[in-house]
Amino acid sequence: MQISLIPCLSDNYAYLIEAAGAVAVVDPSEPEPVLRILRDKGLHLTHILNTHHHFDHTGGNLPLKEQFGATIIGPAADSHRIPGLDQGVGEDDVVTLGDTRWTVMNIPAHTSGHIAFWGREQAAVFTGDTLFAMGCGRLFEGTPAQMWASLQKLVALPPDTRVYCGHEYTLSNGRFALTVDIGNADLHARMTDVESARLQGRPTIPSSIALERATNPFLRATEPALATAVGLAAGDPVAVFAELRRRKDSFKG
Ligand code: ZN
Ligand code: FE
Repeated sequence: MQISLIPCLSDNYAYLIEAAGAVAVVDPSEPEPVLRILRDKGLHLTHILNTHHHFDHTGGNLPLKEQFGATIIGPAADSHRIPGLDQGVGEDDVVTLGDTRWTVMNIPAHTSGHIAFWGREQAAVFTGDTLFAMGCGRLFEGTPAQMWASLQKLVALPPDTRVYCGHEYTLSNGRFALTVDIGNADLHARMTDVESARLQGRPTIPSSIALERATNPFLRATEPALATAVGLAAGDPVAVFAELRRRKDSFKG
């Protein structure tokens, strides 16, 4: 099994999964970059997976389905707004792609139907626009408490799980993180890596659950230092999370 990054639009990533017996793309924003990598590798697309309905994650669905007859799998809760959906899935459903198995997790808040695909054996999770490297998605269709709960599910995955998220937002996420977690040595070390990667035009993805636990401020709302940094008393992680998210919404990084 191999996972390849497919840069799409200005800052999206789609992902190619090559398993024995299946070739899938996760969140195809647009068809062309996906067609290019399939052509280069001489592959036939069998499946399309969507984490949520937003256009920058589903824009390639119909043209790719038309060309390959690929099966589209996405959140059942969003069956009315995922273009070409064939198979709706939800919490604990297992998606089989050739010789690989992926467990579906419901992780609402960015959108109400948002899901993740987690492969235990593959040590990989596709988090869409819920968990980003050093960040999290905006709350378009959910509350801070819902997003906090969704993030808690993701960080409970094994620490070595590779995190494949929907956007290359890492540098600006990290700049925000430094404003609220200045004393975090792991964060400073990671930013050094991220800055040099971006200077060289390299992706910062995949991340890992361990790295996110150590450096992502939205997962660190239980830390007294983070509460203090946003002017709140420690002990109510949802309130701290909500304030972090509110500040990030207006952060110019
Ligand atoms: Zn989105
Ligand atoms: Fe997106």
